Amino acid sequence: MSVSSNLQDIKSLISKSCAHSGRKVDDVTLVAVSKFQDDGKIDEALNAGLRVFGENRVQEAETHWAARRTKYPDLQLHLIGPLQSNKAKDAVALFDVIETIDRVSIAEEIAKECTKQHKNPVCFIQVNTGGEEQKAGVSLDDLPSLITTCQNLKLNLQGLMCIPPVDEPAAFHFALLKKLSLRHNLPFLSMGMSADFEKAIKVGATHVRIGTALFGDRQPQE
Ligand SMILES: *Cc1c(COP(=O)(O)O)cnc(C)c1O
Repeated sequence: MSVSSNLQDIKSLISKSCAHSGRKVDDVTLVAVSKFQDDGKIDEALNAGLRVFGENRVQEAETHWAARRTKYPDLQLHLIGPLQSNKAKDAVALFDVIETIDRVSIAEEIAKECTKQHKNPVCFIQVNTGGEEQKAGVSLDDLPSLITTCQNLKLNLQGLMCIPPVDEPAAFHFALLKKLSLRHNLPFLSMGMSADFEKAIKVGATHVRIGTALFGDRQPQE
């Protein structure tokens, strides 16, 4: 299937989920996850009108997007993968939205780069809602103080993001993230991927991150 026909299908599912939950379609942003996709697929997505893309790795994102930025000034790039401190500089330079702040040290690095580069990307905090040891994201216990830190650092903190554990019902984690966003007054919620974005929208997702349902399977490097 082509990217544009997949996009049609996804858009109609997004509309249905919005209608089902009394939400406006415009309140949900499709973040097209282009990691491990080739140039042909990326250009298909651009030709289909997509402008919001998510990438896991800073370096791969530069390969995909550095040159395309010039041609498509209205691009909006989201970092959705774990961030190392030594990549904060490049991340701030490239991304419009950083979804994966999960500790004080990385918040500080990003804030430092924002000052240096005169930038202010929209930031999300990634929450480890399942308390999984191997997974990125701040713990539920540490979330309130990380939010305060981000605010004190004058980061443009707007939302929360999560990746539910694979072996648990995602809806529970989506509902938890929604509750946290209300409690902390953060308007954006990045949750839901190819397999579960409809559920996430019904619970209040403002950003759904969709890779395989849009592009097909990723290249084998992963
Ligand atoms: C790869 C990835 C996605 C996209 O996953 P699909 O199941 O292919 O839609 C979404 N979010 C994050 C954080 C990812 O790493």
